[in-house]
Amino acid sequence: MFFHSTRGKDKNKTFEEVLIQGLADDGGLFMPDNWPEVDLDYLRKQESFIDVAKYIVPLFTKSSFNDDEVKEILNDTWHDFDVEDFIKISPIDKSIDILELFHGPTAAFKDFGLQLAAAFFNKSLTKQNKTAIVFGATSGDTGSAAIDACKKFSSIKSFILIPNGNMSEIQRKQMTTVKKSNVFPILADGTFDDCQDIVKQGFKERSFLKEDQSLLAVNSINWVRIIGQICYYFYAGLKINQLYEQLNFSIPTGNFGNVFSCYAASKMGLPLSKIIVAVNRNNILERFFKENDYSKTDVIETISPSMDISVASNFERLIYDFYLEGNSSLCSEVYSKFPNQPIRIDKNIWKKTSKLFLSYSVDDADTYECMRLFSKKYDYIMDPHTAVAAEAVSQFYKTLDEKTVILSTAHPAKFPKIIDKAGLHLADIPSRLSAVINKDEIATKLSILDDSVFKFIEQNN
Ligand SMILES: *Cc1c(COP(=O)(O)O)cnc(C)c1O
Repeated sequence: MFFHSTRGKDKNKTFEEVLIQGLADDGGLFMPDNWPEVDLDYLRKQESFIDVAKYIVPLFTKSSFNDDEVKEILNDTWHDFDVEDFIKISPIDKSIDILELFHGPTAAFKDFGLQLAAAFFNKSLTKQNKTAIVFGATSGDTGSAAIDACKKFSSIKSFILIPNGNMSEIQRKQMTTVKKSNVFPILADGTFDDCQDIVKQGFKERSFLKEDQSLLAVNSINWVRIIGQICYYFYAGLKINQLYEQLNFSIPTGNFGNVFSCYAASKMGLPLSKIIVAVNRNNILERFFKENDYSKTDVIETISPSMDISVASNFERLIYDFYLEGNSSLCSEVYSKFPNQPIRIDKNIWKKTSKLFLSYSVDDADTYECMRLFSKKYDYIMDPHTAVAAEAVSQFYKTLDEKTVILSTAHPAKFPKIIDKAGLHLADIPSRLSAVINKDEIATKLSILDDSVFKFIEQNN
């Protein structure tokens, strides 16, 4: 299988090319040339998450790695999780389960995508005898998951920009207390968007790279992260009903990578009824799904900071595949004036939204309220991102016939101040999170108004 851009000009790329390149040359996002079909009967005979991954991942990687090679990589791709089989499914009542994806080393679901990314980066670099720089900006969980996933590979140096903003102290400290010689957390005096701009500029200039060195993007548009996430949707179906009945998934959403992975799983054959796109007050997606209005507004700070976005970068994939049915020239046209002008698509095409998607925006007050309710009613403490998804389910409860799975994307202990403000008390905090709090922080403060960041990377490269 090969890959092509949603905008049509960058095509016939192998998995490895897409992995290293990240974004397509024409500004679009990479898509597989077709949706591989999953043999559900085969999956039903599998047991563990790794069994599922060993079937799903090779469907996308054949153009660069043979299946045995990939299966071998997968034997130690996901590491340092604190539950058996990486994922815990907590039944809440007869119609709701919670899929806990936060048992990895950085206590957020991003470990699934980024550990897979790091494993393939390393494999590719080793094969070619090359080294790489990972350069990215983070609003919270991406940076820590990328640093953690890449730190064990000496072929990769990570430079992560940490903006001013409302990430939690633990989120920041997960990046600034690692103390490995190939990890460079950078405190940048600017917003997340400012940092993103520097990263974009860096990818254009590449001035700090050595000859024959790769520059790797770890943001959520990298297709390899989507693959890692597709695996847990099939795993959930397998464990909950042996893939015999449809499920709904409610997903706390920011850049739409997690939702797109769910959509991809459904295209590959996962029995699925509805996807609930749950957002905080940064509601560009809700406005699109409810009113066909995808228009960029300023970012609002909320208590679910990993979902504070102004545009959802992976959304272009859905426009391209679901709405425009693979028409790349239409897709280029739709995106040509965005974000200066909103995206609205043909009404008759937009109508198909309701076949698959529901969306709801939850404010901070209702997020707190939902956290309290789940604690009181079900003795279950959830993090604020998860609570956004849980609250969205309660809005659609009456219209949902099948079982609904709420994705829990972060451990509540990552957000102690918010748990406290909700009036809740966490009994057990994972030791790796409590350990981080007492460690010394080491990070470099750099201006983002000049080329200090690029100079710093060059000096430490
Ligand atoms: C990144 C993140 C999200 C949003 O995921 P997307 O794939 O960007 O939509 C939700 N919750 C948490 C805790 C996250 O870290």
